[in-house]
Amino acid sequence: MLEIKNLDVAYGHAKALHDISLKIEKGQMAFLIGRNGAGKTTLLKTIIGLLKPKKGSITYQGNEISNLLPEELYLRGLRYVAQEKKVFGNLTVRENIEIAAYASQEPIDRTLDKVMSIYPKLKDFLKTKAGQLSGGQRQILLVGRALVGDPKLLLIDEPTQGLAAIVIEDIVKILSSLKDKVSAVIVEQNLAMVKLLADRVHILKEGKVAREIMDKSEISDTRGLEEYL
Ligand code: ATP
Repeated sequence: MLEIKNLDVAYGHAKALHDISLKIEKGQMAFLIGRNGAGKTTLLKTIIGLLKPKKGSITYQGNEISNLLPEELYLRGLRYVAQEKKVFGNLTVRENIEIAAYASQEPIDRTLDKVMSIYPKLKDFLKTKAGQLSGGQRQILLVGRALVGDPKLLLIDEPTQGLAAIVIEDIVKILSSLKDKVSAVIVEQNLAMVKLLADRVHILKEGKVAREIMDKSEISDTRGLEEYL
């Protein structure tokens, strides 16, 4: 479904990713972990077309995509949920969802059903201004909005960052309900979540893949992962 080969990415002359290669099969949830500055966000932004690689290739469903724009990738089913949790704060939750439905030309009722199916409690907030939502509710709205149209590959940057344990549980449930329905690459520092959901883990260190773990029992033993955080 997604294959990255020998990818180099730089900000001006400062190289951020060096010779990254990784592969994700259809329906898998891959987690990227690593310390601050390891290159996790840079990798997601490059996959979604916000940054252009200096070298290497990104193949998605058999086609090279590193030359495509984010809007073209959106139409091919890629969805990006950025770390910043930005919503349209002055618009209601419903209006935030309507914008996504409009962008993908999906009937609004269908989009609303999808969002509510992952988190029915959001129904109570449809008329609330999105700027008044808690951090967790905002994150759930953003993940819900990413399901609009026909999503095939979700790229989610630190979904649980700064959230209370109770909301993290909701987010784990939501992502777990999406497992096998879409593929995903998720940046996450919460190892309990990685342990529950990951089919594979790619550890980034100083812009390189330091280690890859595909074995479920190895992923479950989070002691092996802690040293990279
Ligand atoms: P974090 O967990 O802090 O978000 P990260 O693993 O996502 O870290 P990146 O944000 O991808 O790491 O950063 C990788 C490298 O690229 C770091 O050295 C960072 O300083 C640098 N970098 C990131 N964004 C920019 C930018 N806009 N301009 C210049 N350098 C950048």
